[in-house]
Amino acid sequence: MTKIPNILLIYTGGTIGMIKDYKSNALKAFDFDQIKEKIPELNLLDCVIQTISFDNPIDSSNMSPKYWVKIAKIIEKHYHKIDGFVVLSGTDTMSYTASAISFMFENLSKPVIFTGSQLPIGDLRTDAKENLITAIQIAATRDGDLPKIGEVCLYFEYKLYRANRTTKVSASQFEAFNSPNYPELGESGVHLYFNNNVLKKVTQNKTLIVRKIFNTNIVILKLFPGINKEVVKSILEISDLKGVVLETFGAGNAPTSKWFINLIQKALKKNIAIVNVSQCINGSVLLGHYETSNHLKSLGIIDGKDITTESAIAKLMYLIGENIAQNKFKKLFETALRGEMS
Ligand code: ASP
Repeated sequence: MTKIPNILLIYTGGTIGMIKDYKSNALKAFDFDQIKEKIPELNLLDCVIQTISFDNPIDSSNMSPKYWVKIAKIIEKHYHKIDGFVVLSGTDTMSYTASAISFMFENLSKPVIFTGSQLPIGDLRTDAKENLITAIQIAATRDGDLPKIGEVCLYFEYKLYRANRTTKVSASQFEAFNSPNYPELGESGVHLYFNNNVLKKVTQNKTLIVRKIFNTNIVILKLFPGINKEVVKSILEISDLKGVVLETFGAGNAPTSKWFINLIQKALKKNIAIVNVSQCINGSVLLGHYETSNHLKSLGIIDGKDITTESAIAKLMYLIGENIAQNKFKKLFETALRGEMS
């Protein structure tokens, strides 16, 4: 292909788009249309870069499905003219956002690369430049006539990850993300290396479908030794509750007390989807491996396998929003839809 790739940079907010006002010492968002003036190195890249910025960039702590839809609509609108997308977001909730975007786009065949930074772009020691420049380079990489990447990824501190496998692991180190249960898709060193064996195969023969409905009537219930009946009961009896990410111990284990089993059973009977996700950062739920997960298995709880909590939240909101028939929900959740579980 001889055409120069068109890349769309979408700035939603977060540290990466900030500069220090040296008079007041405060961080403020800078005008993203001037990005090439701030980072002249971008002119050296072999692609055409367009930018779109949220009118009011947000700290990613304020991220919500409303903004996920906003990002998705921008991508959808430009999908046919643009060869690759780079979404800049705050790092705090980036794994949730990028997971949600991965579920929203069915049959994606172009790169959507999320990135951000720990230090603002104007900071002397910033990690923003490398993250941004390499993310753009990755989004612009071709494999013959096709893009190299056809999935939602997260690029940070020299590593390319499948976005819906990531989790933020550090608030202070440049290596802020990890993909505990899936190998890195690529690495930036002297050369840009792609791990072809684990990349999703890019095919462009299917029509893109964009889903935009999320149901937020869900909760994370993290177990801890000593969690009491009143707490579990009041959570599971929240009116209109539709889904629970049950963060269990180790390989998916939970208390075997009668009251606990009864409350879970009652919630399942009310058609509340309960997904078993391990509190361990690495490894998988193995339902029935221990006696302490046998009861959950026989109750028909959903096996979250090795999904991250971030991805489980996004998948739950998405599948409940899709109004999947009750008898199909468990099977569908337990199926890897976008490579989010093994
Ligand atoms: N609080 C910021 C945010 O997530 C941190 C960052 O940008 O990394 O928006």
